[in-house]
Amino acid sequence: MSEEVRIRQVISDLPGYKAGAKPPSVEGQIPYKLSSNENPLTPLPSVIADITSALADINRYPDPMASQLTSRLAELLQVDEACLALGTGSVGVCQQIVQAMCDAGDEVIFAWRSFEAYPIILDIAGAVSVRVPLTQDGSHDLSAMANAITEKTKLIFVCTPNNPTGNIVKDADLTEFLKKVPSHILVVVDEAYIEFNRDEDAANGLEAFKASSNVAVLRTFSKAYGLAGLRVGYVVAPPHVAAAVRKTAVPFGVSNIAQIAAISSLDHASELNSRVEELVTLREWFESEIVKLGFNLVTSQANFIWLGLAERSEAFMQACANTAIAIRCFPNEGVRITIGERPALEALLPICAQFAPN
Ligand SMILES: *Cc1c(COP(=O)(O)O)cnc(C)c1O
Repeated sequence: MSEEVRIRQVISDLPGYKAGAKPPSVEGQIPYKLSSNENPLTPLPSVIADITSALADINRYPDPMASQLTSRLAELLQVDEACLALGTGSVGVCQQIVQAMCDAGDEVIFAWRSFEAYPIILDIAGAVSVRVPLTQDGSHDLSAMANAITEKTKLIFVCTPNNPTGNIVKDADLTEFLKKVPSHILVVVDEAYIEFNRDEDAANGLEAFKASSNVAVLRTFSKAYGLAGLRVGYVVAPPHVAAAVRKTAVPFGVSNIAQIAAISSLDHASELNSRVEELVTLREWFESEIVKLGFNLVTSQANFIWLGLAERSEAFMQACANTAIAIRCFPNEGVRITIGERPALEALLPICAQFAPN
């Protein structure tokens, strides 16, 4: 009998990334997708105009160094260009970082539950995921994370605001934590949702980067800037780390259209910031309605909220699906609801009321 070609065991065992579900179609209901933390607003007309005129160049490879975008970001963030590396979304950059830094068997520490891409990326690289449970209120347990450091630790992810709980890591806590991390271990602060933060005590990854030799910050154009479909994100890291991260990129991964859309978005930052402000206002309204229903919420600083519904999570997801709304369910833990369109959130309130604690 002929033998099948062999896939690496770790890949065969991998569940694969579960993207947020599409809303099911329900007769008479407008479908809403609140399952992927996307920006509900359509792109700015000026961004569309800029990328439309760039379509004529798609027979050419893009600038592999994304020179223009890199220099814009360096100026904006007040960092050296050598400290920047771009990739296909910050998930792409995250994968580049792991490939640049982790040999098989190296350990990477992160909070759990946190961003679901971390363990998948680590499995693919043959690195070892060290998950440190969140505290009861969904915060990073930084002292437990510090205690989890071993000889084999290469990297630590700190996700703030954390996906899916929405909590931030406090500045003072991050500073304290960084003192306990040996200087040869890189701490990657994942700030995918930082634009939605309104807590003045929150950690600022960029400041931490500027104050240390082993901190990197991951940011993305996908969430606040509404470019999830174009795949562009970046890391600010010590120059030798950024150089290594550029080497592990998919060649020409960030398209010219993505580069132009990102630059155009930076050109229209104030318009985009007011859109973010609207979403923050909507979040605050939704949270106050949820609290009125009797839920005990931890204030979210991201564009989603978390309800720790435990064993009722799947029933909640089903109830949402019945009204054509997709949310993200973590069975037996909770649900994550993206702050999307206002009518969708209004439609969710009666469902939330059914699931409110008595
Ligand atoms: C959405 C998200 C990202 C980045 O997504 P990209 O679209 O790949 O930039 C990174 N980290 C966290 C925690 C996220 O939730």
